[in-house]
Amino acid sequence: MATICCKIYRSDCFRKFKAYPFHKIRSNFSPTIRSFVRPVNTHPDMEEFPEQNRPGIVIFDMDYTVWPYWADVHLDPPFSVSNGVVKDSRNEKVKIYPDILKILNFCKHHDIPMAVASKSPETTMYKELMKLLDIHKYFVQFEIYRKSKENHMKVINEQQNIEFTDMIFFDDDFRNIESTRRIGVTAVHCPRLGVTWNMFLEALKKHSDCKQTNPKQRQLK
Ligand SMILES: [Mg+2]
Repeated sequence: MATICCKIYRSDCFRKFKAYPFHKIRSNFSPTIRSFVRPVNTHPDMEEFPEQNRPGIVIFDMDYTVWPYWADVHLDPPFSVSNGVVKDSRNEKVKIYPDILKILNFCKHHDIPMAVASKSPETTMYKELMKLLDIHKYFVQFEIYRKSKENHMKVINEQQNIEFTDMIFFDDDFRNIESTRRIGVTAVHCPRLGVTWNMFLEALKKHSDCKQTNPKQRQLK
């Protein structure tokens, strides 16, 4: 009953349920009961992604995917934080792309684990920067070293026990997209502007559709 009430309480669902008598149930509850059964843990965009079709993990490249730099080339440590703003030694403000926090919070809210896969050799610097930017806490695994992204995926596969076909991976370098697609990862190319919210939702949808229709074919076109 709670499930039905949760669904019908959402205004955007009324159209879908119009053909069913469920909507009549709502009027049978007092406002108190309605507020009690109102969902607190859902997101409008997750409605079309049943839990069993969600990815096992979402993996992010860092340079030009999460932040607009080759951080080990364009930024100069040591870093400092003042009034919540992270700067490098040349007083350059360190930023991440605008939709990143929304995407990270969305995954966290829906218990989708996240990992980092970067080819930079500056492991310590990248982790420190992530801590200063307060995004380190979102990730369960950090693969940051000079090896192929395919290798990074294999380590994540071993440590998290998640199949390649259950991974979504974002990267700005198409060579990494090609190599990880070959092993079955749903790899998404995000050139120039990093991962955007729409790009993320589209990837979730395509991964979900493929998982539902054909678990062995989850390549994004
Ligand atoms: Mg990159």
